[in-house]
Amino acid sequence: MKLALGLILVFLTAPLAARSPELMDNAGGGWSGNGGGLHQVNDNVWYLGAEPIRYCIKAKVDYPAPADELQAMVRRSFSSWQRFFTKYEMGRPQAMPSFMLTMPPQMTLTAREVRCDEKPELEFYFGLDNETLKLYREINEADGYGLALRTTYDHKQHRHQGFVWIPAFDQDVRKIEHMLLHELGHVFGMKHDTVFVMDRDIALLLKSLAAGDPALSFLTRIEADFWPFDLTAGSRMRLEPYTRRLPGAAPAFPLPACANGLLSLAEIPMEFHPAPPVITPPCVRMVLQKNHDNVENNFQVNLENAAGGWLATVYGKFQALQPGNEESMVPGTLSSWQNARPAPAPWVYVPYARRSMHAQLSGYFIRNQIRYPAKLSWSRGLNLEIFIPAQARWWSIRSFSS
Ligand SMILES: [Zn+2]
Repeated sequence: MKLALGLILVFLTAPLAARSPELMDNAGGGWSGNGGGLHQVNDNVWYLGAEPIRYCIKAKVDYPAPADELQAMVRRSFSSWQRFFTKYEMGRPQAMPSFMLTMPPQMTLTAREVRCDEKPELEFYFGLDNETLKLYREINEADGYGLALRTTYDHKQHRHQGFVWIPAFDQDVRKIEHMLLHELGHVFGMKHDTVFVMDRDIALLLKSLAAGDPALSFLTRIEADFWPFDLTAGSRMRLEPYTRRLPGAAPAFPLPACANGLLSLAEIPMEFHPAPPVITPPCVRMVLQKNHDNVENNFQVNLENAAGGWLATVYGKFQALQPGNEESMVPGTLSSWQNARPAPAPWVYVPYARRSMHAQLSGYFIRNQIRYPAKLSWSRGLNLEIFIPAQARWWSIRSFSS
């Protein structure tokens, strides 16, 4: 009860401006928050330090998934995030300012289930509720498919009491697990729209999924082929022109029908067509490949035939447009870090990622000694724009999603 009371006071005294915009605009569900303080603090990683997160599971008797399945689901979700953070080298504090005496602790990536009477730090509520969760939803005038809610950020211990709430919004356990993975992402400080599972409109997605939707096969996964967190060296991503997905944007002439995943050559500017004597089929696959982190030829676009056979390659050279801008896309912790000096400790933001990612990149592709200016950015997937001088326009392509 003490906890609930603390939250009530925070809610009632926090000025509106201090709340995250995320908390104020939540018709679609899938929010997170702590109900007050500096709004950036809402996105802080909940658990730092070597001790595993002690969690327990509470579930309604007739919840769509039985208790043992929920246990397995929670374990899988923790493991998925562990693998994800390992893959992208996240979890360690970076950019320590010189006045901080010691390195801030690492993110806690391990977890251990305990009984609910063994003082868990994190409680999962499946189909159940408590006063704090109810109150939070009432005050925010929103209901949803899930919520991750913790107490006010503890700048000394960096450990928190928190709840993950997943109501019985659907009988499909895969949708429930996907929502759970999303909310756990908030516990680890992941931001909305950084990767497939952190879709800002996740409730809308889960509501509208129909048979045959490409997103269906990526349920319960953090990344989708068309929406990974980032490209690592060696990774490949299929591309499609932007315009073919816009309703009403009919091409000037009929395009030959191509199988799913293939593009008509007519959709690709002449400048990037395979050069003779390569025999070019009418339908091709376009793939963006990240080669390495060096600036020279760090990207390439390949045209392939339906079987994956090589047709043409255009090399590109890209670099970050606005270094530092990507910081907000990785987990981080804004804190007054009690080990810092001088007193009173200043507020410092510490990102928990080794590489910068999600940067906007600018550069060019080069073909026949002509440079084609290009831009690469992330927005619910990858967007690539290439300037075609002969047409005096930017050609927009994006990660393949259908
Ligand atoms: Zn969310």
